[in-house]
Amino acid sequence: MDQTLVTAIGERYQRVLARIEAAASAAGRDPHSVRLVVVTKAQPLGVVRAALQAGVRLLGENYAEEAVEKINSLKEEFVVEWHMIGHVQSRKAELVARHFDWVHSLDSLKLARRLDSFCAQAGRRLPVMLEFNVGGEESKFGFPAWDEHAWPALLPEVEAILQLPHLRVRGLMTMPPLFDQPEQSRPYFRRLRRLQEFLAGRFPAADWSELSMGTSLDYETAIQEGATFVRIGTAIVGPRLPR
Ligand SMILES: *Cc1c(COP(=O)(O)O)cnc(C)c1O
Repeated sequence: MDQTLVTAIGERYQRVLARIEAAASAAGRDPHSVRLVVVTKAQPLGVVRAALQAGVRLLGENYAEEAVEKINSLKEEFVVEWHMIGHVQSRKAELVARHFDWVHSLDSLKLARRLDSFCAQAGRRLPVMLEFNVGGEESKFGFPAWDEHAWPALLPEVEAILQLPHLRVRGLMTMPPLFDQPEQSRPYFRRLRRLQEFLAGRFPAADWSELSMGTSLDYETAIQEGATFVRIGTAIVGPRLPR
């Protein structure tokens, strides 16, 4: 057990938690309305274990196979809530349906249907957020949502996802273009929140309450704009291994 690593991660974790609380309070929000998912993608098992020793309980991962190895190695020792935050290829849907507690990155009806059928087999209902591409970058996953005029065209697919009995839609997620100034992310966070209002207006019986947005660089801005989940990696667990 690397106690130095546990202490370092623990200090950064507490510092980020304090900043989350301050940002929420300053925005007139209940600090408990923002949950911190610590992102451990491309981090070795030792770092993940150190984060858990430091008190982290919500972990975010991007790659199904890498994550499932970690999940299986740690499940005897720790109770963890595992969040899938990366693009899920269709052939990985079964792994995700069996091992994850949340999916933030549901980005197609096809994936939704596959997750739904594997969740049916596993006898569970999976909380999901729909991922939207609000920045228009071609490299990004998510339903195309950068042009507000195109939002109505998204409704048939959203409606079909809402009808899947083994998924529980909880809200929206986005990953805006990468900037060095947090203020530059604000228009994208605002657009996701407007889209949340749009969907809540069209499907008022569904639950749109969660907004997963904000990373190490811009989580305070995201909280000002209504984030309920922030996904933070490097600011807490340090730089990632190259893949
Ligand atoms: C890697 C990643 C994060 C965390 O990014 P950091 O800059 O390390 O905080 C958050 N969300 C998604 C979707 C990611 O892929």
